[in-house]
Amino acid sequence: MTGLPESQAAAALRIGVLGGGQLGRMLGLAGIPLGFRFLFLDPAPDACAAATGDLLEAPFDDISAARDLAGKVDLATFDFENVPEASAQALAEICPLYPGSNALGASQDRRVEKDLLVSLGTRVPPYHVVSSRTDLLEGLDRVGYPAVLKTRRFGYDGKGQSVLRDAEDLERAWQQLGDSPLILEAFVPFEAECSLIGVRARDGETRFWPLTRNVHAGGILALSLPGFFDASLQAQAEQTMTRLLEHLDYTGVLTMEFFLRGGELLFNEFAPRVHNSGHWTIDGAQCSQFENHLRAISGLPLGGTGMVTHSLMFNWIGRMPPLARALGITGLHWHDYGKQARPGRKIGHATLTADSPGELRERAGRLAEIAGGEFPKLLDQLFSED
Ligand code: AMP
Repeated sequence: MTGLPESQAAAALRIGVLGGGQLGRMLGLAGIPLGFRFLFLDPAPDACAAATGDLLEAPFDDISAARDLAGKVDLATFDFENVPEASAQALAEICPLYPGSNALGASQDRRVEKDLLVSLGTRVPPYHVVSSRTDLLEGLDRVGYPAVLKTRRFGYDGKGQSVLRDAEDLERAWQQLGDSPLILEAFVPFEAECSLIGVRARDGETRFWPLTRNVHAGGILALSLPGFFDASLQAQAEQTMTRLLEHLDYTGVLTMEFFLRGGELLFNEFAPRVHNSGHWTIDGAQCSQFENHLRAISGLPLGGTGMVTHSLMFNWIGRMPPLARALGITGLHWHDYGKQARPGRKIGHATLTADSPGELRERAGRLAEIAGGEFPKLLDQLFSED
């Protein structure tokens, strides 16, 4: 394996991270026991990853700051995919960047992303590129109602998208989004949403965690449950991801999101990074997505990706349930990101672990009751068979 030279002990390794949000923070938390040190670049003075390393406070499009970061670290990565490609490229001229800027480029534009996946033989819901109102009407002729209109760039957590059910929705969405390059997709009446997280080492060795079933509320991930799907879907998803990883000659963790419809997986999007739907791996897998990403990019052997226990993740959006009550549930693992609470903001998560699916369900019911809001309903949706 093309690992670090023996002389460059992992203990001395300094890792630069473009982005200092909760994903950076969890990378830091996973890397500290390996002896790694971290330098995060983020425009926010209170970037929550700074609890696990140093912070270089600068905008992401500040090329000289990206170069400055590169000069201070042994290798670099990123914790979100909207880093400008120019900053990533400038950095990569000075220090190794994993994954490469080609993966960033492909994931930043929904059209480029879908075209690429189609060229690799992946099944994708029908889509139509929209640059004008005429394109939109043409697209609706092709795709039909209901449809989803999305901005090609900078959309996440359901932002920059609108479901079109009739001509009235069309007008409203066009007023809101019409200034940006767009894509129109068929609305998929899916039976379930799921994601696959994989990791590829520098020498090409690849491992996958079990597919995770995800339930969203208002476009934001609410619950993730690994180990729900059968081996044939797992194989289908792994085959799709393998083609992409090889095409990009990828190093690190990558996530793919799918809709499940009629026993088939339809590709929705990929993220060239660790992912919210993989947070359960911290407490429920042999090696977490965060540690394995660090192992992959630093040339160390990959860790196991199997489940060591049944687990289920609850995402805390905007507010967290009372800590003391939640900790009263056996098998609960609490993760507070140290962020200011704001509506719609991811501020923490909890993973429940249990020895059996029945015990997991019982504990999840108790946590959903404590968390309140939509959680009891979302939990029923998560465990439903269709
Ligand atoms: P995205 O930003 O593309 O991941 O979309 C956020 C969420 O919106 C997804 O997880 C789905 O719950 C929903 N969604 C997005 N696109 C579609 C679609 N074409 N059909 C049905 N639901 C969708």
